[in-house]
Amino acid sequence: MADQKILRLGEKAPSEEMAALKETVASCMQCGTCSASCPVTRAMDYTPREIMRLIMTDMEEAVLGSQTMWVCASCYSCAARCPRDIEITDLMLRLRSIAIKKGYQPRADVAFYRHFMSIVRRYGRMLEPELMIRYGLTTNPLKLLGMAPIGLTMLRRGKLAFKPDLIKGRREVREIFDRVEGGGE
Ligand code: SF4
Ligand code: SF4
Repeated sequence: MADQKILRLGEKAPSEEMAALKETVASCMQCGTCSASCPVTRAMDYTPREIMRLIMTDMEEAVLGSQTMWVCASCYSCAARCPRDIEITDLMLRLRSIAIKKGYQPRADVAFYRHFMSIVRRYGRMLEPELMIRYGLTTNPLKLLGMAPIGLTMLRRGKLAFKPDLIKGRREVREIFDRVEGGGE
């Protein structure tokens, strides 16, 4: 059993998904170019370079419980500059998917993101009233009631639509979502 990993006391083996990510980041040399290129590190609890290190050292809970992948704006600056050609942006998206699958509690801003994405997945574009209602019901129904007068005024003035303006190619949009969420290539 030459390839069997020896675990130290208190150390946990990475899950299958995280083991796959560990292989992806194995060539990371901790140069920090990704963190230096990232426009949103100030809002992250771990920088992209730190996330690489945590994955390499099997700190699964720290990685999946972090805010970093949710804050990532998918701008690709890090991936474009990484000297080891690591697809950091795609990795952040994979981390979101793994975190949700493993039941890490979405925070309020994550609930917003999830509702936003599920609406875009369905209609191919945003439907603001549905987003606000779904987000309000998930996070703070009382606040939602307080916003009703503004919503009604906007509706009367034609600033909001309750029916989705469907785009062509919705099936293709759904396929893109399926590939990203499934971690497809
Ligand atoms: S830029 Fe690439 S090699 Fe450098 S720390 Fe980030 S992931 Fe690792
Ligand atoms: S893709 Fe995400 S992690 Fe990479 S630089 Fe942009 S915001 Fe930062």
